[in-house]
Amino acid sequence: MNKSQAQQLDLNDPLAEKRAEFCLNPGQIYLDGNSLGLLTKASRLRAKEVTVDQWGEGLITSWNTHHWIDLPVKIGEKIAPLIGAEPGQVICTDSVSVNLFKLLACALAMQPGRIKVLSQTDNFPTDLYITQGINALLGENRCQILLVEDEDIADAIDESVAVLLLTQVNFRSGKVHDMRQITELAHQSGALVIWDLAHSAGAIPVSLDCCEVDFAVGCGYKFLNGGPGAPAFIYAAKRHHQQIQQPLQGWMGHRSPFEFSPTYRPAEGIQSFLVGTPPVISMSILDAALDVFQDIDLCQLQEKSKALSEFFIGLITQYAQLSEFVMASPEQSEERGSQLSFHHPDAYAICQALIDEGVIADFRAPDILRFGITPLYTSFCDIWVAVERLVRVVEQGSYRRPEYQIKARVT
Ligand SMILES: *Cc1c(COP(=O)(O)O)cnc(C)c1O
Repeated sequence: MNKSQAQQLDLNDPLAEKRAEFCLNPGQIYLDGNSLGLLTKASRLRAKEVTVDQWGEGLITSWNTHHWIDLPVKIGEKIAPLIGAEPGQVICTDSVSVNLFKLLACALAMQPGRIKVLSQTDNFPTDLYITQGINALLGENRCQILLVEDEDIADAIDESVAVLLLTQVNFRSGKVHDMRQITELAHQSGALVIWDLAHSAGAIPVSLDCCEVDFAVGCGYKFLNGGPGAPAFIYAAKRHHQQIQQPLQGWMGHRSPFEFSPTYRPAEGIQSFLVGTPPVISMSILDAALDVFQDIDLCQLQEKSKALSEFFIGLITQYAQLSEFVMASPEQSEERGSQLSFHHPDAYAICQALIDEGVIADFRAPDILRFGITPLYTSFCDIWVAVERLVRVVEQGSYRRPEYQIKARVT
């Protein structure tokens, strides 16, 4: 594998033009879009519009004239086709963490006689922390947690499980769960399933309706490119809407917030998951960012992700200097999300040295160097250059410098 191969693959790439819709920094190669997606040109423009024009000029009238109040529903409907959901089931609101709290409480309440929440030991920590918080709030008589390794999930599903809470794409390894199979298994035992799509939405095709998923949450700032701290989303299958009773009863989830009634009456359907005032600036930026997906076929996107990854793996294996990098992601591309992870004893320092070389990846404790593969704006030449620079960092040993050993607050 070499540079001219990368150039050829770029020439034949049907998604190559999409790159022009993003704000790329010249000379920099960004392989961290699974943690914070790139800024789109549309979002950059919208940020100015929503602050200077809509807020600055329109002030409070913009809630109506610029339809700020409709943003949670409007964005939910834009995300819906990316996750295989028919209209009326997705809404943009709060963070993944807060949404998990609402969904978990809601799902437990729908399962009288069952108290067990089953999840994976290496789930994303916030999913586990929220579950532990619900457990502390409700007590052991109403919520019990059972954590198992991935390979033991199927065996652990039985009639005692109230809710199965899983993240579809593992944040460290990129390993993907079989959503259809696991959801079906859970339903056979009468359990409800909540899927965390943080590393799935906008990265791989997802079919929530087809898989008969009960509930899901997902992230706005990763593959959806909504910007730092962008709001997240909730999916709730229509068949459950009559039973939704979520505990964070805020005024935006009220049937008629502007009646200012002293008594809470939930809005119909998915809107009852709203809590407080939507963060209009963040939401507007996410709204604009989602337009890049309008003409995207997610299967085509996945094909490019696989091709970029295979090219990456091919390069890594061809350099003897990189033999210390051990794949932490599944070998088979069908079993991976849109990222590649490698174990290396000096992963943190190498990541810092790489950033100084203009290649942005990230580190995940204890020893993982993680590369996000984002086919909308990553080229094969990017991958080629990134690996060249990685070889240089390792060969020259620049990562051994003391300043690269100091852990920052955010890794
Ligand atoms: C990034 C991520 C989150 C983020 O949660 P927030 O509360 O929105 O910060 C949650 N779950 C998973 C699996 C993630 O990867």
